[in-house]
Amino acid sequence: MASSYQYSPVAIDYAENPRNLGPLDAWDGHAQVTGPCGDTMQFWLRVVDGRIAQAAFATDGCGSSLACGGMATELAKGKSVEETRCIQQKDILDALGGLPEEVQHCALLAANTLQAASADFLTSSGAAARGSACADCDTASCATKTRRRDESDAEFAERQQLESRLCRIRHTLLVLSGKGGVGKSTVSVNLAVSLVRAGLRVGLLDIDIHGPSIPTMLGLDGAAPCAGAGAVLPVERAGLKVMSIGFFLSNRDDAVIWRGPMKMGVIKQFLKDVEWGDLDCLIIDSPPGTGDEPLSVCQLVAHADGAVVVTTPQRVATADVRRSITFCRKLGLPVLGVVENMSGFVCPQCGATTAIFQRGGGERMAGELNVPFLGGIPMDPRVVEASDAGTPCVECVSDSPVGRAFDQIGRSILDLLRTSSRRLPHAMPGDSA
Ligand code: ADP
Repeated sequence: MASSYQYSPVAIDYAENPRNLGPLDAWDGHAQVTGPCGDTMQFWLRVVDGRIAQAAFATDGCGSSLACGGMATELAKGKSVEETRCIQQKDILDALGGLPEEVQHCALLAANTLQAASADFLTSSGAAARGSACADCDTASCATKTRRRDESDAEFAERQQLESRLCRIRHTLLVLSGKGGVGKSTVSVNLAVSLVRAGLRVGLLDIDIHGPSIPTMLGLDGAAPCAGAGAVLPVERAGLKVMSIGFFLSNRDDAVIWRGPMKMGVIKQFLKDVEWGDLDCLIIDSPPGTGDEPLSVCQLVAHADGAVVVTTPQRVATADVRRSITFCRKLGLPVLGVVENMSGFVCPQCGATTAIFQRGGGERMAGELNVPFLGGIPMDPRVVEASDAGTPCVECVSDSPVGRAFDQIGRSILDLLRTSSRRLPHAMPGDSA
């Protein structure tokens, strides 16, 4: 529906005389994001002493896109990278004097792309500081040294500690679901093991405080993490580094007595106190839903590459996953793709796959929301047996429909990581020379 809203003089000026069109000859952070409307935006950032010295953008979108991209670059100039990362859709709209509702998504795309370019800079500068904590490193532009205006001493120290851990991790993926019981942990475990089998250094962090099932799924019940110097060391299993809240509960039901602030404290502690060392990829099995717990995970791991959203074919679960995708978009977290679990049933007798629930809901919804569909995993009683036995499907039933489906999803994620602007530090099997 056409809007009767009049464009403000500032918005008209920015649309007709686009500011700071890119690319830049030299840049320290870059990102390209495609929005749900199909428009693609790119940002390039030049960072000097932790501040944005130059910002440029490009878009294949309309005048509103040009206005939003240009205003976002103007807002970023001179700000610290941390401040730039906090620029929101509303800031861009306010600075433009508003926009008609039907084109306000251009401001969201600009804010998300700017945040992704800032995150790219932070990850790259973190990689440069590999081997030494950010708080101590000599990188002049290291953003962790830049204190936010609204931060107390304790908060700044805590953030430095968190970022000094995360900056040694090349890629971070969050596994999310709109509700529990859809197979989020099963996907996290099999994805992590697939990436280890492909040769990556992988960590798996289970902060699903409602039901930390990963120790059982990996045969690690009763394992006890060791304490290092001021940190907790992950438990290692066949090359995979694992940390789970479950390792610290004497009984799984302990989790239910946690109250709100305590849950947040536990999540934060897990992110900042685990010594992963250098990793190619950290997979985080997040709490389900779109409430405070997954929100605090996403905010604490603001540099994450993106989220893998797990759903099942039924209508209710796909409605939940829509909320998860909206949730990611609001937070500027890219959605790497959707996995449809329990997609058809594999008969244990004849091996045929039957669609006992509606199938294809996840794929359809992914298409509608313009996010990649990573694949469907059939329902197979061997998944439960494998989980209970502590052996992931990609190890014990690799040559079955379910094993092949997990493997295919692992390869899709690996391809996404390979083509990411943050390249893996060493050659992977299957890389061309
Ligand atoms: P969530 O992490 O979303 O709560 P889980 O991964 O713990 O879900 O899975 C819930 C239950 O469903 C587990 O018992 C698991 O073994 C089972 N399950 C998950 N995926 C499948 C599947 N494709 N086929 C059969 N059972 C499955």
